[in-house]
Amino acid sequence: MYPTIDLHTHSTASDGTLTPAELVRCAHREGVEILALTDHDTTEGLAEAAAEARRLGLVLVSGVEISVTWSGCTIHILGVGMDPEAALLQEGLESLRAFREWRAEEIGRRLARDAAIEGTLDGARGLSNGRLVSRTHFARHLVERGVEPDVRSVFQHYLVKGKPGHVAGHWASLEEAVAWIRGAGGQAVIAHPARYRLTRGKLRRLATEFLRAGGVGMEVVSGSHSLDECFTMARHARDLGLLASAGSDYHGPADPWVQLGRLSPLPPGCSPLWKDWPIARIPRRATGQ
Ligand code: AMP
Ligand code: MN
Ligand code: MN
Ligand code: MN
Repeated sequence: MYPTIDLHTHSTASDGTLTPAELVRCAHREGVEILALTDHDTTEGLAEAAAEARRLGLVLVSGVEISVTWSGCTIHILGVGMDPEAALLQEGLESLRAFREWRAEEIGRRLARDAAIEGTLDGARGLSNGRLVSRTHFARHLVERGVEPDVRSVFQHYLVKGKPGHVAGHWASLEEAVAWIRGAGGQAVIAHPARYRLTRGKLRRLATEFLRAGGVGMEVVSGSHSLDECFTMARHARDLGLLASAGSDYHGPADPWVQLGRLSPLPPGCSPLWKDWPIARIPRRATGQ
């Protein structure tokens, strides 16, 4: 029997709404035993999360969700269990945050120019509290201003391709992201594969290139997958020789449909990402954590 595990979550270090310590407390309350904090393009929240996890006796695995541009699509690659101090990883993440900074300014300029909405950069920056700025911060700001009723409709009307605030991504290459994670001793995992709406052939090509680069896993169970998609992705993972991971992609209590520690089990036939982790096979009380 595997412990309760959640390997994909966000904190205020990126676009989550709970601080790293609050996130860990919430996961602990929900019965999560092994948690990975995987903020977008930063490992800034890990130290605070680890300290709170030690206090509560929950296993905190270091993580990150790296933005990648592959074949014209934005793909997210999770790093799990890597050393957050690794220099190559940190240099890489730094370059992505520099792009984020430029993109945020550009989104602000475009929303002012093409949608006649001024001051969105300051609004988004205010909500990000000096941390990295994500499109989610723009979306929350526009909801606060009453421009749209919810974050989802801001994305739909302002932030996706063809809309005034859209700026094309120039993120890491697939090979770079995997190399940064591997170089730091972590496992690379394709995040929420069903979200990209790739054809079967394109998903296979992504997986093949990912494996060739040294990636090992695919997120089969995800808060953003339907049960059907979980089973489809389980089949793909098995066929392609990828380990299966599970994560909620929790961003905070504002999205009540995504909860910590409430993931369905991996479908039969999956090889879990954590199958060789010593920590995952030892009952929690015996680890002394
Ligand atoms: P960014 O990395 O700054 O481009 O922002 C991507 C983040 O925005 C994702 O991680 C989600 O948290 C959020 N997001 C993306 N698309 C949507 C959507 N259609 N509705 C709500 N949130 C979204
Ligand atoms: Mn996000
Ligand atoms: Mn993602
Ligand atoms: Mn995520």
